[in-house]
Amino acid sequence: MSDAVQRADFDRYMVPVFAPLDMIFVRGQGSRLWDQQGRDYIDFGAGVAVTALGHAHPAQVSALTEQAGKLWHVSNYYTNEPALRLAKKLCDATFAERVFFCNSGAEANEAALKLARKRAVNLHGPEKIDIVSFNGSFHGRTFFTVSVGGQAKYSSGMGPNPAGIIHVDLHDEAAVRRVVGRNTCAIIVEPVVGESGVVPVQPEFLRLLRELASEHDAALIFDEVQSGNGRTGALYAYMNSGVVPDIMTTAKGIGGGFPIGVMLTTAAFADAHFTPGVHGSTFGGNPLACAVAEAVFDVIRTPAVLEGVRRKAAHAARRLREIGREHGCFAEVRESGLWLGCELSDAYKGRAGAFMQASAAHGVLHIVAGPDVVRLATSLVISDEELDEGLDRLARACAAMRPA
Ligand SMILES: *Cc1c(COP(=O)(O)O)cnc(C)c1O
Repeated sequence: MSDAVQRADFDRYMVPVFAPLDMIFVRGQGSRLWDQQGRDYIDFGAGVAVTALGHAHPAQVSALTEQAGKLWHVSNYYTNEPALRLAKKLCDATFAERVFFCNSGAEANEAALKLARKRAVNLHGPEKIDIVSFNGSFHGRTFFTVSVGGQAKYSSGMGPNPAGIIHVDLHDEAAVRRVVGRNTCAIIVEPVVGESGVVPVQPEFLRLLRELASEHDAALIFDEVQSGNGRTGALYAYMNSGVVPDIMTTAKGIGGGFPIGVMLTTAAFADAHFTPGVHGSTFGGNPLACAVAEAVFDVIRTPAVLEGVRRKAAHAARRLREIGREHGCFAEVRESGLWLGCELSDAYKGRAGAFMQASAAHGVLHIVAGPDVVRLATSLVISDEELDEGLDRLARACAAMRPA
């Protein structure tokens, strides 16, 4: 029997919750990927904002291989050195005083939401469980996080959703003032809304959420699963806004491709409420994940890398606007660091998926954010040459998308 596999095997063996493109990648280096046929692609998607240092970055390869020879897993009956080192670095670099490790963004949000409820119920009684969230937001795929997320298509048709979740529109000040009250235990928001188009939340609106949360002793939760870890050019997006949350979650980029999630919070929030047994995870804080994340974090937080993100982002946005003008495809290009949302013009509305296909055919991989937005999330350390090569290929794909 042959070990050779091909794309058709996906349809034969895999649960069809995904519909992957036709190629199968076998190798990556920097911001280039190669498929089974040896074709190369410039990677402008970074595995959905995950491979922050590109592929096979020496710092993360050596962290992984070194740790792999030492210790993989011990469980949370014990702690371990990589977890403690990473926790210390995250607390030193952010508002946080306590961290909880898990394996994904959804799990980090699950922990955040449970903590917010537990704390509110402990301090104020069983009525204080309301979670205020925003239409169009995305917080993960567990049942609690799809229910809190603002996209009904992900949470409907699976029986009753958890109670006490209220959705309002982003930037609708009157609506938020109306729904936040004495029974609110948390307000959760992405400081830059990722899946719905790379839309930065206005700082004044974040300030309002901060005020309302404080006024009602509710947790302000920032979901920085995608916006964090240097993506926007700041280490975390909250640092740009001047608004500090009570709880922050992150995942995606911090592992550089190794699964890890983190919930960060203050001692006041965590200590009295998340006590032994209240929450947990088998793999959370495992030495392999934490060793890799520590190496990734050490690279990302250097001023040179963050400066590079801002410089390359400005360049990419400029070129994307040119491409948009030349081919009439982009109505607007929103830049939040190396995270760009190209809003399709009216003539191309609803066809972001077709752009993704055309780009792949021209040797550049980007992603989408809904049907109307072409989303780019490159490696944070992409070289100028790779960036320009990818943009050239993208321009050719946009030309090919023009009606004949
Ligand atoms: C991707 C994402 C999540 C979910 O992360 P997973 O690791 O897929 O569970 C949650 N929130 C935001 C903002 C995300 O972009």
